[in-house]
Amino acid sequence: MLRYFSFILSLFVIASCSKGVEPESYDPEGSTDTRTKEISYQVKRTWRMDNGSLSVSNDFVSSRLNDFVRQNDTLYTAVISPENGPINKSPWYAFSIWSEKERKITVELKYTDDYTHRYYPDLSHDMVNWTPIDSSDFVNDTTNQVTRMHLEIGPDTLFVAAQEIMTSQYVYNYLDSLSKIAGAQTKDIGYSTLGKPIRLLSAGNPASENVVVIIGRQHPPEATGFLALQAFVNDLMKNDSLAVSFRDEFQLIMVPMVNPDGVDMGHWRHNAGGIDLNRDWYSFNQPETSAIRDYLVSWVQENNKQILFAIDFHSTQEDLFYVFEEDRETNMTGFTHRWLDRIEQDLGDYEANRIPTSGNSPVSTRWFYDTFETEAVTYEVGDDSPRKRIERIGESAADALMELMLSK
Ligand SMILES: [Zn+2]
Repeated sequence: MLRYFSFILSLFVIASCSKGVEPESYDPEGSTDTRTKEISYQVKRTWRMDNGSLSVSNDFVSSRLNDFVRQNDTLYTAVISPENGPINKSPWYAFSIWSEKERKITVELKYTDDYTHRYYPDLSHDMVNWTPIDSSDFVNDTTNQVTRMHLEIGPDTLFVAAQEIMTSQYVYNYLDSLSKIAGAQTKDIGYSTLGKPIRLLSAGNPASENVVVIIGRQHPPEATGFLALQAFVNDLMKNDSLAVSFRDEFQLIMVPMVNPDGVDMGHWRHNAGGIDLNRDWYSFNQPETSAIRDYLVSWVQENNKQILFAIDFHSTQEDLFYVFEEDRETNMTGFTHRWLDRIEQDLGDYEANRIPTSGNSPVSTRWFYDTFETEAVTYEVGDDSPRKRIERIGESAADALMELMLSK
């Protein structure tokens, strides 16, 4: 079924290309013009209502709440706006809410400019453990465009967010923890528009010519892509014989937080320059993408490296892989397809949904191929994919990668 769907979709993509129509259907017009655009900065504040007994706030990192309005005793509207527009329809929201007494309220999510709901709400009291809201407490009526959630609130602050919140600091801490593993080290290769580091971790054998590159978080709300990246990387960095032999043979380069400003400002899609970074891998108008390009191009030349494989983690409605055609000549021609076959074989109950990387969209994988003849893939994880399953597939994907690359 999935295969059939991807086949139909690929026909659509090919048909659109041949007509010269922009094939990336989710992209608003003009997204490949990556010259810096203005964004509106979210005003951080706490709304107090009902004589101060109810409070709602966006005063934390990665929040997104542009207004909060009382409709009646139990119904409130949370207004959510993008950083700028036009923009891909992925409205991120994140706010905290508490009240003096235990009570039940209904919060309606209203997206400005008729953007439609995408992310099923997650709840947390500690910003560490997140649980999807109970289905009986959530309504998304797509016909009338009404999105409502019932919340039980009290003095213990409740965080409501589009996905698990994982800020840039969270990812830098993760890189720090990995840098304690033998042979690994971090390096800041540049800075975002607002001065946050573009931090790279190098691991494995630094003398090896053969390199695997891993990147992620170009698009702020795409938390499931990052969860898959973590499962994948944790497996590559394990202390077992497979991972240790792999790291003896190859070098790993990873930049898991490409868009720290966008993530920390609770953006829907863009960086602080108002741009979709995964459309800037041709023009390189933005500092985040330029930093990675400048570093990798000179590092590869100076050290005689060969980037064999590059993988870029994202999220979308369902699990899928954007792949190049199997016979495209690369440093490891056909590898991605062999790797996906192997994952399917190892998991038994899994079909890797392969979608051809479309048209000439200036995405990272295309740049890796054009510049280094790298075999490159975009790994898209479903927004609502069960978290345990994301971990299982991520690990299996790393095992398959290591086994196949070592057997070459
Ligand atoms: Zn993405």
